[in-house]
Amino acid sequence: MGGVGGLTCPACGGPLAPWRSVPASDPSLPGMFALARCAACGSAVTLGPAPPDAYATGAYAARDPRLVRLAAPVLERFDRRRLALLQPFLAPGAAVLDVGAGRGRFVAGAADAYERLDQELGDGIAGGSEGPS
Ligand SMILES: [Zn+2]
Repeated sequence: MGGVGGLTCPACGGPLAPWRSVPASDPSLPGMFALARCAACGSAVTLGPAPPDAYATGAYAARDPRLVRLAAPVLERFDRRRLALLQPFLAPGAAVLDVGAGRGRFVAGAADAYERLDQELGDGIAGGSEGPS
């Protein structure tokens, strides 16, 4: 049984109910975005389609983010720690799914040890991409 517009929670399949509207976290995206929330697990889902250029502007633009060189050593250390936290739970060669993977930096770095699967959320419900672009 679905909730808002027959949509179900991508995490658990529970019904979605209208929740709230929020501004985009990326300043390049104008307007407000309606969210629904799963009554069963509490996950939030963006309703409606993403703006057509949402994946070509702001944080997803084809250029390097600001201060990328300065942040690179910190991000690299952060990603190594994330991977170290996961390793006790993963068999060698296991698949790693990173939901909300952004540019896929973490899974790209983990690709030497694991099958890489990254999932970006779009169109209100899980869409996807494989690998960084
Ligand atoms: Zn749910």
